Amino acid sequence: RAKSDGKGAYHFFEPELDAEASRRRRMEIDLRHAIRDGDFELYFQPLFSISQNRVKGFEALMRWPHKEHGMVSPTVFIPIAEESGLIVQLGEWALREACRQAAQWPDDISVAVNISPRQLVADGLATCVTQTLAQTGLPAARLELEITESVFIGNVEKTLKILHSLQALGVRVALDDFGTGYSSLSYLRSFPFNKIKIDQSFVRALGEGDSARAIVRAITTLADALDMETLAEGVETQEWLDTLRSEGCDMIQGYLISRPVPGRDVARLLAVQNGSEARRAAG
Ligand code: C2E
Ligand code: MG
Ligand code: MG
Ligand code: MG
Repeated sequence: RAKSDGKGAYHFFEPELDAEASRRRRMEIDLRHAIRDGDFELYFQPLFSISQNRVKGFEALMRWPHKEHGMVSPTVFIPIAEESGLIVQLGEWALREACRQAAQWPDDISVAVNISPRQLVADGLATCVTQTLAQTGLPAARLELEITESVFIGNVEKTLKILHSLQALGVRVALDDFGTGYSSLSYLRSFPFNKIKIDQSFVRALGEGDSARAIVRAITTLADALDMETLAEGVETQEWLDTLRSEGCDMIQGYLISRPVPGRDVARLLAVQNGSEARRAAG
């Protein structure tokens, strides 16, 4: 677009575009090396049941400790991994590592793994899931896959077929970041998601008047009718939790319960959150 604006615009915009493009290229090369060297880590954040007052599972969140840039956020490197296709390899690593660790947890604690749109439609995801479960010994029912609404931008029929084949393996499928981007109620009608994760933007808006609250209530009512669970993301205060409880939300995730923690801290966190039963299991 800058080029069509004439010569001045060309000279004005081009260096910035160049800088951005070369930053991305450098990061892609770094990513390749980090994948080869196994530099990534998983952190885990509790998924907390409001009515049972206990942690039911953890979401696996990728972390990239980088020599120069410190801890690089997945919001920075996942889009680049997605664009370059590296997400398929990286996502398979996350799936294996999450299942490997979760297999060591108490057997009523599940794990949720994010699956990017490109990873979902790449050949062999169902095979990879099957093999990972067999190799790690994690029961399928303890694995939840999180996908976002953006998977429905492409070939909807293909997407639905893949989602059905995954659910047929016995794993659960959650709709992440619900309410952002490309929301359409037709997705909810065309696929029986096990869980809807209400995006943090709605939770954050709960204090700012009645409309966010009305939207949350509409989502939990709809989810109830469709036999889907609801989880609110990004819950930071007791006040938000109280509101979410009264609007019929089943679960929460957020700093109020805990920030994401390294895998080695999961047992201790369960001991604190879930009481004596978990305390015995943690040893
Ligand atoms: P997400 O799947 O929606 O994950 C929730 C994000 O919200 C996480 O950010 C988490 O740290 C953050 N969060 C949780 N509670 C709170 C809270 O109370 N307040 C605030 N302000 N934030 C909270 P994180 O770890 O930076 O991950 C960002 C996104 O990167 C994830 O969003 C997910 O889309 C993507 N991602 C992370 N790991 C993976 C992965 O292994 N594979 C794929 N494909 N995507 C991943
Ligand atoms: Mg997620
Ligand atoms: Mg989310
Ligand atoms: Mg989110």
